[in-house]
Amino acid sequence: AKRDGRAHYQYFSPEMNVEMLERMHLEQRLRRAVKQSEFYLEYQPVIDMRNGAIISVEALIRWNDPEFGVISPQAFIPIAEEAGLIEPLGEWILHQALSDLAELHSQGLMLKMAINVSGRQCINSKDVSFYDILKDALSKHAICAKDLHIEITESMLIEDKPRCLQTLESIKQLGVDIYLDDFGTGYSALSYLTQCPISVIKIDKSFIDNVLNNPSDAKLIKAIVMMAQSLEMPLVAEGIETVEQWQFLHSLGCDYAQGYLMSRPLTKPQLVEFLQQAKPF
Ligand code: C2E
Ligand code: CA
Ligand code: CA
Ligand code: CA
Repeated sequence: AKRDGRAHYQYFSPEMNVEMLERMHLEQRLRRAVKQSEFYLEYQPVIDMRNGAIISVEALIRWNDPEFGVISPQAFIPIAEEAGLIEPLGEWILHQALSDLAELHSQGLMLKMAINVSGRQCINSKDVSFYDILKDALSKHAICAKDLHIEITESMLIEDKPRCLQTLESIKQLGVDIYLDDFGTGYSALSYLTQCPISVIKIDKSFIDNVLNNPSDAKLIKAIVMMAQSLEMPLVAEGIETVEQWQFLHSLGCDYAQGYLMSRPLTKPQLVEFLQQAKPF
């Protein structure tokens, strides 16, 4: 027992304290940032591989901290989730994205839009459910449900499966398609693909990265494409950076592609310019 006691004391090492302080500091900044709107969205085009058309854009959040500059969502989204800030942040993302989409539509730029939704955002809504928030936002911005889709990850389906499934079913009923993001990196219990109302699968960038120099990654991608085809689920390949990667995925019959080769994430004015001078790939 004494030994256990000692082991516990180790959790309070000086390094840990520094880490906790830094984290608390980041949390405070994040709280302030939510209040002061230090965020903006960028949009990355998704291309139809058959004809090169731009079919949709994925909204990606950026945090411009006055002191630290632009901070990656990979750094602050997990903290926002733990600090209970993902709900106000998620609502801000939804409204900003839909208001930008309405503006694009009013300029004749008829696109669909994807937003990323984290597990806690979908499930932990206290007084108002995520479904209601989504429904109200669509009607407030006069956006048709079929023009919006949400991206979720496998981990989200595992944490609170029954509640999550219920929410996803009702969102799907509303007409908002659900994409499974980062496919292949999580638990990948394949039963989720048919048990959950998933419409489209996104192959994770980590598989695309090495597809040309790692034969086993190439085989995995081939297997994923065949599986998606037999389930009649369209596929998006994300993180396409080279012509060779595009050609490989295209030859397999992958449907859609997203990556720096076609476009980096763009600010709204950059996106408008990109769309206006877009020539098919
Ligand atoms: P994700 O949803 O998998 O988004 C794709 C990420 O890959 C984006 O990074 C995008 O900029 C990057 N990417 C796309 N094509 C390429 C490429 O060809 N090469 C390289 N190197 N990268 C590429 P980003 O914007 O830093 O976002 C990272 C993650 O943060 C996202 O991964 C998502 O999990 C999360 N995230 C971003 N925005 C939001 C948001 O609004 N809400 C939530 N809940 N999560 C978000
Ligand atoms: Ca995503
Ligand atoms: Ca992804
Ligand atoms: Ca990812």
